[in-house]
Formats: sequence, C-alpha cells, structure tokens
Amino acid sequence: MVSKIHLSQPNVEELLSTVSFKDANVLNFENALENYLGFDKKVVALNSGTAAMHIALILAGVQKEDFVICQSFTFVASANPILYQRATPIFVDSEIETWSICPLLLEETIKKCIVLNKKPKAIIVNCNYGMPPKIAAIISIAKRYDIKLIEDAASALGASYRDRKCGTFGDFSILSFNENKILTTLGGGALICKSGQDKKRAIYLATQAKEMCNYYQHLEIGYNYRMDKLSAAVGLSELKNIGQYIHTRRKIHLFYTAFFQAIKGITVFNTSDINCVSNHWLICIVVNEKITGFSKEDLRLQLEKDNIESRPLWKPMHLQPVFKDCTYYGASVAEDLFRDGLCLPSGSNLTANDLVTIHNFSK
Ligand SMILES: *Cc1c(COP(=O)(O)O)cnc(C)c1O
Repeated sequence: MVSKIHLSQPNVEELLSTVSFKDANVLNFENALENYLGFDKKVVALNSGTAAMHIALILAGVQKEDFVICQSFTFVASANPILYQRATPIFVDSEIETWSICPLLLEETIKKCIVLNKKPKAIIVNCNYGMPPKIAAIISIAKRYDIKLIEDAASALGASYRDRKCGTFGDFSILSFNENKILTTLGGGALICKSGQDKKRAIYLATQAKEMCNYYQHLEIGYNYRMDKLSAAVGLSELKNIGQYIHTRRKIHLFYTAFFQAIKGITVFNTSDINCVSNHWLICIVVNEKITGFSKEDLRLQLEKDNIESRPLWKPMHLQPVFKDCTYYGASVAEDLFRDGLCLPSGSNLTANDLVTIHNFSK
C-alpha cells in the first residue's frame, strides 16, 4: 500500500561519520551548488526557502507599502514574506501550459499599477511542482519595466529552461531543501544572487546584521536565517545523488503518463513547450469531470480508502482568507487547477510495488 509520499532521507548517523562537522560545510555546500547551477551565480545557504524569499525581497528593495506582483497559484511561502516587509501583494493568474504567471496578464498588471503611480518593486514567479515557467517572456517584461524578478525555484532544483537550470533566472532566486523537496537538508534553503556584493549583504542580514567589530554593534534589523553546519553537511552529501533522484522522478512521471493514457479525462501535468524540462518533483493530474463523470474529490476519497495519499493542488493565494483584501488580476486558470487537480505519490523511492498498487487500484 502506498500510505504516504516517501522521502529520500539520508541516514544522519552515517552522514556524521563521513562528513566533518565544521564551518567549512556551509561554504562547501554553497560552492557545490554554485558549480551545479553554473552561470556564475552566488549562493547563500539559509535555514529555509521562506527565509531566502524574505532576504530576496529586502535585497530587491521592497519596503512598506510597495507593490509586489506575485503568482497567485503557488505555495503560501512565496507570498508571506511580502507581508513580512509590510508591502502589498498583487496576485496574478497563470497560463495553462506551465501553470506559472501569465506573461500577458503580468504586463497588463504592471501597466495598471503604473497608472496608479505604484510601479511594482518586484515580480515573484513560481516554478510549479518542478516545472519551469515561460521564463524568457517574463524576464523580458521585467527588464522592459525595470522591475526586479524573483524566481521561486523552491521545488525546481535540476529543472531547466533552454538547458539553463532553474534558480539562475531571477535577479534573485530561491531554493528550498525542506524535507519534502527533491533535495533535502532536512530543513533549509538558498538564496541565489548575481553578485558577490549581494551575497555578502545577504549573509550579513541572515546573521543578525552584526557589524564587523569586536563588540556587538548593529545598524540594521537582522535575522537568524543562516544554514547550520549539519544541514549543510547533509546537503553536500545529498547533492551527489540529485541526478539519480531526478532520473527516478522522471521514470515515475513516465509511468503515470502511460497509466493515465487509458483513462479519458485525466491528464498528467506536463508541457508541450520543449524549452521547459521539469524535474517532476510532484506528479500532478487534472480531472475533467465532464469526461470522467467523477470529480477530483471523488478520486481523492477513493484513493484514500486504498491508503493512497493524494492532495489537491495549491489553493490560489487570492482565495486565501489571509489575503482576502488583496488585488487579483486574472481569469480562472488557478481556480480551475485548484478545483480539478491532484498531486499523486511521487517520491524518488516510491517502489515498483507501490506503483503496482496504484496500477491495480484502477481495476
Ligand atoms: C517549499 C516551498 C517554499 C518554502 O520553502 P521552505 O524551505 O519550506 O521555507 C516556497 N515556495 C514554494 C513554491 C515551495 O514549494
């Protein structure tokens, strides 16, 4: 029975016996990530993806009452840090191919904000479930209007757009190494920036904004966001396996795609845009009730009876009670995905047996 989404957890004892417990771990993990991502990026290891998003917003200059455009179809951690800065989120709908922010709507929204004399300070785009956005179009809009682009690549380590890795496209990008992500440090994240200067400032803010002097001197508000040494050691060790993890995810995606081909009205999330190569972090399906005759909720409950956990896709931010007063531009793409979509068990160590169980379920 597939009772839960399996995680690729490293054995901590084994790790401690092989990896030295030193400051160097954090720096080595950052170097290893910089090498992995390429494009001369600077990586700052932090204690969560959410912390990375917060620092990204600060470095992008986001302050009280500034407008920040954010994809509505995302996990709440993309949006919460906007409020940490007391800025104002403006939520925007997705396009149907990658489920990421719709470039047309994005530009329309920027124009509307400019008319209000509130040019947005930053744009947050999310890579959904490991799928790269139509990033070339989004970058060109951000450039045209001179707005900082923040790429939430929390789930997209190893995914790529035109052979360039996700996490390298934003003025600032973030990764998460939370327990459920494709690479875990059991809790952690990273900020990816373009210059050594930004990296230095990010580390400063993440370590309580302590001035370089022999007593405790603080000119600014800082945070306790730096990654710890043990997490970095786990990350360093896990990064060696990332190729294998992605390979397995892709095989699971192929399995589900073949499996659902026989069921009319259920489609497995993928894109026809050949530029976008997903890591298939989580396998998502969309149920067209008019064709299947059952809803995604009917299917979810049936799977639950068989001890197979599935979950609805993100509930869009503009439908969240906590963001009820925020502006939203868009149609119903994100809302439809929430109504019709499910995430299926997709862990890298989902076994052949688990897949057989899922396969047999439909008979
Ligand atoms: C996991 C995730 C985050 C947050 O990362 P944490 O490390 O859990 O703080 C942010 N955005 C998205 C899209 C995520 O999936």
